[in-house]
This record gives sequence, C-alpha cells and structure tokens, in this order.
Amino acid sequence: MSTNQFTKPATAKVEDNILTIGGCKTTDLAKQYKTPLYVIDEESIRSVCREYQSAFKKYNNKNPNKKLFRPLYASKALCVGALAKIISSEGFGFDTVSMGEIYTLYKAGIDMKTVLFNGNNKTPEELELALKADIGRYSVDNFYEIELLSELTKKYNKKVDVLLRITPGIECHTHDYIKTGQIDSKFGFDLHQVDEAVEKILKNYEYMHIKGIHAHIGSQIFEDKCYYDEIEILVEEISRINKKFGLKLDEMNMGGGLGVKYVKTDKPPAIEEIGNGIISKLEECIEKYGIEPPVIYIEPGRSIISTAGTTLYTIGSMKQVLNGTKYVSVDGGMADNPRPSMYQAAYEADIVTKMNDEKAEKVTIAGRFCESGDILIKDIMLPKIESGDILCVYNTGAYNYSMASNYNSVEKPAMVLVNNSQSDMIINRETLDDLISKQVIPDRLKG
Ligand SMILES: *Cc1c(COP(=O)(O)O)cnc(C)c1O
Repeated sequence: MSTNQFTKPATAKVEDNILTIGGCKTTDLAKQYKTPLYVIDEESIRSVCREYQSAFKKYNNKNPNKKLFRPLYASKALCVGALAKIISSEGFGFDTVSMGEIYTLYKAGIDMKTVLFNGNNKTPEELELALKADIGRYSVDNFYEIELLSELTKKYNKKVDVLLRITPGIECHTHDYIKTGQIDSKFGFDLHQVDEAVEKILKNYEYMHIKGIHAHIGSQIFEDKCYYDEIEILVEEISRINKKFGLKLDEMNMGGGLGVKYVKTDKPPAIEEIGNGIISKLEECIEKYGIEPPVIYIEPGRSIISTAGTTLYTIGSMKQVLNGTKYVSVDGGMADNPRPSMYQAAYEADIVTKMNDEKAEKVTIAGRFCESGDILIKDIMLPKIESGDILCVYNTGAYNYSMASNYNSVEKPAMVLVNNSQSDMIINRETLDDLISKQVIPDRLKG
C-alpha cells in the first residue's frame, strides 16, 4: 500500500491503549508542547517521496544523460523550512506560487534551480525577487506576464527558462471529471491562445527560453484516467508546437492532484499504479506523436504531506442537545483547519488514550471559534469522552496550517516533527505579542 492510502501516519501505533506517532506518545507531545498541536511524521513524508521516485524510476532509464523524472513538491500544501529540507533531501524540487514561498525555501538553503514559479497573477515585485534568486523555471500563465517578464529580464539582464501554462480542457476532482474543449478557468492559456503565446515568447528569445508546457487538472483526484487524457493533450500539443515553430520543446509538467484517504470510503490509487499508468501512456503517446521522451515534472502537494500530519486538540466543554446532537468542543477549529467549514471536508479522529476502547458514542466535534459553521467533524463514533481528553484528527498535513488564520485573535498552533522517538519544534506557537505585533496605535490616540 502507498502512504497516500493510509488514513493515519505511517508510524502510527498503539501502545497501552495510547496513540504514538514517530515513536512519540501523543499524550507526552500534548503535555510538552500544549494543544492544539500539529504533529508531522517525518517517516510518512520520506516514504511517500520514495514511492514517487521508485514509481517513475524506469522512466529515467529512457535517457540516463538527463534526469527525465523531476518531481516538484507543491509548496502551497504546507510551506515550512524544516520540511522543505526533508523533501529536498528526497530529490524533490518545489512548485511555488508566491514571494513568501520562494523566500521560505531560499532561507532554508534550498537549491533555487529546483524551484518553479507558478501563478496567474505574479506581481512585478515577486518576479523581481524570483529573478534575483535565480530560480529554475517560470510557468508563464498569461500575456501580461510575458510582457512583464520580458521587461524585467532585460532590465536585470537575466536569461530565464519558461514553461507555458495551458488549460487542457480537463478538470478532475475526486469523482467529478469534466472534459471539454474549453474549460472556464482563470489559469493558463486556452488552447487557441497557445500559438500567439509561443510567438510572443520567441520574440524575446535572448532572455526567455521556452522549454515546454505545464498543466494542472485538479486536486484530490481518484481517477487515473484524468492523467492519461491530460498526457495525450500535452504530448500532442508539444509535437504540434515543435513542428509549427521548428522548436525542440522537451519538458512537460503534469501538475499535482493525486488524492489521499481522509476517511475510510476514500479510495485514492496507489502511487506505483499511477506511475506505471503514466509511463505506459507516455510511451504510447511518444510513439504516436513522434517526439523524444520529454522531461516530466509532477507537482504533488497533498499526497506528500497530508497523511504525515495529525492535529492534537484538548476536549473542553460538551453539550447534549435534547434528543439530538452531542457537541464536544475542542481548543481549535476552523482557524487551524478551515477545510471542513470551507468545503465540508471529512476527517477521521480518535481519543488518543482510548485507542482500543469501544466506539460507543456518536458525537459532533465543534471548534472554539465564533461561527456556528465551525464544526470539525459531524457525527463521528468515538469512545466515551471526558473533558480533558486529547482528540487527534488525522490527515491534517496539507492545506491546514497553510490555510490557517488568526480568526478571533487566537494564536496559531505550534508544529512539531517526530521521528525515531524524537520530537523537534519546527514552528513555534504564536504568542499574544505576535498577534498584535503589526498593530499601530497613532500618537494622537495615545494618552
Ligand atoms: C495546487 C496545485 C498543485 C498541488 O495540488 P495537490 O492536489 O495538493 O497535489 C500542483 N500544481 C499546481 C499548479 C497547483 O495549482
């Protein structure tokens, strides 16, 4: 089984009825670092990275002189220096979407040549910073960006390598799959705009080198077929552009999107299976459209980091509605995990000291924030709960901290990395002074 097919971190174990992760007792972690707490399992990250590398290994053999398989971690899922170090050490580069992400990686000492900058409205300041940092690739999204980038590359006398972000007419989320010639999307060039975009980039040939094309077809994808349709379109497009413009584009970025198992009914495909399917489809299309085996980039975010993350909360108040729901409130909620309130995302949870106890009670886990919609999990079966119990919610590595807010002026939780029975703080808990550190009271209001 692949790590993205577990609901719990790879190292999750039960000892004396208590959940341990990375060899650390979750009760000890809660005591030492307080709650809410994000716990990240290093082993889960490394194993999923290795699964990707091994699934695509045979594609690299097609041209041993050139690293053909280049995985990039989509930083937006969770962008933290310590984790970037781990992911980079597993041979991954990085897909980024902001100056903040590029800066985080830069300060962590990541090789900037492995960084790709993506996004539909990169600002001039962001592009300048990216140029100064000498990042490896720009995924050029629109005509405005081609103009901006050609001005800035001239100004700073920098040569850049670019991919053309296109909208291939496929959109895929879990079971929802749309394929039409035209997708209404804010990202990338529509297929009918591609030739004009290529012409504009070729006009700036001294500074901008087009290397290939890029697409991203969705997130939390369970259907491997989406990727195969995407490959067909991308390869056909590369072959067509090369013929029409006499070019040798040889890079193809397929984007991210592979799903994870949040709840038992989720059935994401195994990484090895996806890898094999992608390689066979590529082989078929390379032959059919007569191109050299291209460099392929994939950009998984969620499937790298989701399963590695578990959030610990302390249970406080409880409320039994007459003949109805039992609400159990925790010391976090929509500010540290906005996914349930934003798009009804579902999660599994346990009481960390009652792992083997019978799940006898149906409860709804409520957050502490002042919104009726701040419900983390609706109707979950758990053992009998007491105030002070520690609740863990699994699969919170992706799009939790990276989407967290300070709603209700609550400090963002700390994050710890666990491995081999050791725990290390990788993000300190915010303090009350952090919360007000950017506020200014004008002199005239003082005194
Ligand atoms: C969001 C995004 C990803 C990552 O998607 P996941 O579903 O987290 O794997 C990769 N590439 C691009 C361009 C994205 O926008």
